[in-house]
Amino acid sequence: MTTSNPGTDPAWDEAQCTSALAQLERLQAQIDDLRLTIPRLVEPFYSPPTPSVFRAYKENIATSQNDMKKLKSQWKNPQVEKIFTYSKHSFQENGDLSKSSEVPRYGWVDMEEKLQEATQKGDKEKEAESDQGMDVSQEDIRKIVDEWKARNDKIKFQGQDGYHDFKISFVSDSLVLKFHVTITQELNGVQKLRAVCLGTKEPALAITRCINTRPHPNDLSYLLDMIAAYKTVKGTKCAKCGEMFDSQVLGTVARRSREVVDGEKTNVEWEAFHEHCLV
Ligand SMILES: [Zn+2]
Repeated sequence: MTTSNPGTDPAWDEAQCTSALAQLERLQAQIDDLRLTIPRLVEPFYSPPTPSVFRAYKENIATSQNDMKKLKSQWKNPQVEKIFTYSKHSFQENGDLSKSSEVPRYGWVDMEEKLQEATQKGDKEKEAESDQGMDVSQEDIRKIVDEWKARNDKIKFQGQDGYHDFKISFVSDSLVLKFHVTITQELNGVQKLRAVCLGTKEPALAITRCINTRPHPNDLSYLLDMIAAYKTVKGTKCAKCGEMFDSQVLGTVARRSREVVDGEKTNVEWEAFHEHCLV
C-alpha cells in the first residue's frame, strides 16, 4: 500500500499507512464516544432529586471534560499532525480519491496489532538473513523466473525483461489473487526481495503478512513456489488445526512447505495454514 510521494517526504510503506489508519480509527472512536456526552449528563435527572443525583451529575461533567481534554491532546499529537500533513500533500499531488472507497473504515487497530505481532514473530536469525539481502546475479534471476514460468504455464505472469518488477495473477477458490514482486537495490547496496498480495481488504492483507514472515526471505525460487502454492494447494483445511476457518472467519491465508521423503527421493510439499497457526 505504498502511497505517492508528497513533496520531499518519503512515501509511506504499508506498516506506516496501517498505523496511520489505526491512529485515525482511535480518534474516530473518541469522537463517537463524545456524542454520548449530553445523554450522559442528563441521565441522573431521570431519577428523583437527591444528593446522589447531583454527585453523579458532577462526576459526569468531570468525565466529559477529561474526554474533551484527551481528544484535544490526541488531535494535537505530533503523530496525528504528521498524518494530516501527509494526507494534505498526498491530496495535492493526486486529487483522485476514487481508490479510497475500497479502503475499509474499521479494522485498522486490529490490523496494526497483527502486523506488530507478525514482525515480532520473525526470529533474529530470519531478520539477520533478511538484512543480508539477495545475492543473485541478473542471469540467475532470469533463470529462476523462466524455469518457474515453464513449471507454471497456467499462471498469468506479467513482467518486463530483467524481472525486477513483475505481477502474478490467478483465480484460486473463486478469488482473484494478484501478487506484485519487486527486487530493488537499496542505498547500502543490498538487494531486497519484496512481495505483496494486491488489495486493501482481507484476505489480501493477511496473505501479504504471511508472505512477509516466510522462511528464506531472500530465496526468489522459494517465494515464487509459495505464490504458486496459493493456486495449487486449494484453501481447504489448515494443516495444523484441521479447520477451514479461523476464529475471525478467515480461511487458510498462509502457505508453507515441508520435505517429504519418498524412498530415496525427497519431495517438497506445500500446505495451507491459518495466519495464527503458523509456527
Ligand atoms: Zn489452523
